Amino acid sequence: MPELPEVETIIRGLARRVINRRIAGVEFHEPRTVVGDPAQAVERLLGQTIRGIRRHGKYIVFDLQKGRKESCLVVHLRMSGNFVLDGEPGPHTRAIVELEGGPTMVFHDIRKFGRWQVSDDLPARLLQLGPEPLEISESEFVKQLRGRRAMAKALLLNQEFLRGLGNIYADESLFRARIHPRAITSRIGVKRAARLHRAIQEVLTDAIAQGGSTINNYVNSEGGQGYFQLSTAVYGKTGEECTVCAAPILRIIVASRSTHYCGRCQRP
Ligand SMILES: [Zn+2]
Repeated sequence: MPELPEVETIIRGLARRVINRRIAGVEFHEPRTVVGDPAQAVERLLGQTIRGIRRHGKYIVFDLQKGRKESCLVVHLRMSGNFVLDGEPGPHTRAIVELEGGPTMVFHDIRKFGRWQVSDDLPARLLQLGPEPLEISESEFVKQLRGRRAMAKALLLNQEFLRGLGNIYADESLFRARIHPRAITSRIGVKRAARLHRAIQEVLTDAIAQGGSTINNYVNSEGGQGYFQLSTAVYGKTGEECTVCAAPILRIIVASRSTHYCGRCQRP
């Protein structure tokens, strides 16, 4: 599933080529991809100029303008959605947006869980999400983390606590901060909580710099891969030696997600 760094990478790729382009054609090949009536969505999108593109957690938000009226297209990639610029349409193509003077945005989605929604403002469910992991201040993070009583891993995946962090990056951040995934957040000291804040920033920044992680079939908007999966310390490393202490990396389930950690380095 594309998480924050993958979505950020896709957005940066798209932004270079689609900003200030006018939408000249829209096709939906799968009605389920659209929230609401696809024909209506096509009508609303035609003639809009893409003024901006930004990330809201794991959502991609295209800011649109037609005349003086502003609206937005919100896309959630879910399990397997992806944009490829000037990509070849194929059996998994669910939407195609043609921009005046190019490029064409081809949306592929094998699992068909990706969703597009055209609306005047950001939909309410986006506004209910927690702060951006890369924007929240250290003091606010420490206060929020210690103010809740939950297992650390579960809280990091809770979208109302932080939006968009994702499974790989939660595991890597906890390892970097030396915090056990089942540590109870209200008992984590101020110093360790601050260390976790720093670890999240570092892990996400590294991951974005490497173009995200290519696991399963994620590719960026130019069809290229991400490389962060090659440098994870614990995620996907079950049974391998910890890079710090050489103990075997363990795998448990927390919040119904597969969780990787070092039982020696990471303390409750
Ligand atoms: Zn270790």
